Amino acid sequence: MNKILKRYYGGNEYIDHIELLAQKRCLEAFHLSPDCWGCNVQPYSGSPANLAVFTALLEPHGRIMGLDLPDGGHLTHGFFTQNKKVSASSIFFESMPYKVNPKTGLIDYDKLSEMAKLFKPKVIIAGVSCYSRCLNYNRFREIADENNAYLVSDMAHIAGLVSAGVIPSPFEYSDVVTTTTHKTLRGPRAGVIFYRKGVRCSSNNGEKVVYDLESKLNQAVFPGLQGGPHNHAIAGIAAAMKQATTSTFIMYQKQVVSNAKRLCQKLQDFGYKISTDGTDVHMLLVDLRCSGLTGSKAEKILEDISIACNKNTVPGDKSAFNPSGIRLGTPALTTRGLKEEHIDVVASFIHEGLQLAKEIITLSGPKLVDFKQTMDTNADIKERITKLKGKVQIFANQFPLPGCNNY
Ligand SMILES: *Cc1c(COP(=O)(O)O)cnc(C)c1O
Repeated sequence: MNKILKRYYGGNEYIDHIELLAQKRCLEAFHLSPDCWGCNVQPYSGSPANLAVFTALLEPHGRIMGLDLPDGGHLTHGFFTQNKKVSASSIFFESMPYKVNPKTGLIDYDKLSEMAKLFKPKVIIAGVSCYSRCLNYNRFREIADENNAYLVSDMAHIAGLVSAGVIPSPFEYSDVVTTTTHKTLRGPRAGVIFYRKGVRCSSNNGEKVVYDLESKLNQAVFPGLQGGPHNHAIAGIAAAMKQATTSTFIMYQKQVVSNAKRLCQKLQDFGYKISTDGTDVHMLLVDLRCSGLTGSKAEKILEDISIACNKNTVPGDKSAFNPSGIRLGTPALTTRGLKEEHIDVVASFIHEGLQLAKEIITLSGPKLVDFKQTMDTNADIKERITKLKGKVQIFANQFPLPGCNNY
């Protein structure tokens, strides 16, 4: 062992070995040279990873800009409401959200540029939890440079797609990249921070300015915010990053995207409106405003027929508490072996469920409590829900859970 990590505890020879291996494999999975990039694999998850980045790069009350939560951003990108600073990233730092264009559903980069000139953030975050299009990292980089800000890309949702090369990578343009390892990357529940090394830029007098992110970020993670690392999760990261470099994984990610596009197409054929009119990635956002449904009711009926999804705000929604859409994704279905023709069946189940929800509303009226009450008490409705759930489960049983063939 020629390299060891700084530890607070002794007796970590093999643990060091695993952590260094995890770091090396993280760089390999994203095709990064160890001369230009390093990484920290200790963050307990994506949210602590982001807080560590802000802690490292900013003073208390330093300024950040991230995509607003109702527009598809993540809580940890500075979310606050009129009445409450919700995320720690808005309690300890000053945040200003940027938005999508409510008509197109696409990020309004011009507006972001304009707002950034006024707000002068030190960190701009390029990252999404509910946005079905590729990000324009080049444009983010320009806007960051106009303000001498760091560009932090949070690829938590899309890391698997990035690793497989099926969508553009943020690394070329970013100073720091954070990720979770349990979404499209399909690893353990954990987080990783990637940081640049080497020359950042040339100053006015031609001197080279060098990145000093490594020790700042490492210290923000430990001892700044965390105690001992979760070694079991780090071993899981090492395994996941190795899997991410296989051809099977690349095929899997291509299928995830094909399946998402197919699901989108089929739902559009049934007449549903999809935010941004399509998807480039693993997920899509169904805008139910013209379907006479709400996100909560759609989520509830689908859950009762064994289809898991979640309610989500759509661009232009007035209230985050009564969102008008649902977010659907294909990574889990694809892992179970579903191909395009199976996705067609899934789309028809979703349609059947939502049609039934509309019928229930005609009986219950628009209130969610009444809707749920009717679902629980109306004998005819109950029977139809049970029948549909049975069909969904018989269909799903053709596709075994990996590693669990007899259940
Ligand atoms: C999920 C997610 C996170 C946080 O992940 P947790 O593991 O739930 O803390 C951070 N950023 C983005 C963009 C995410 O989608």
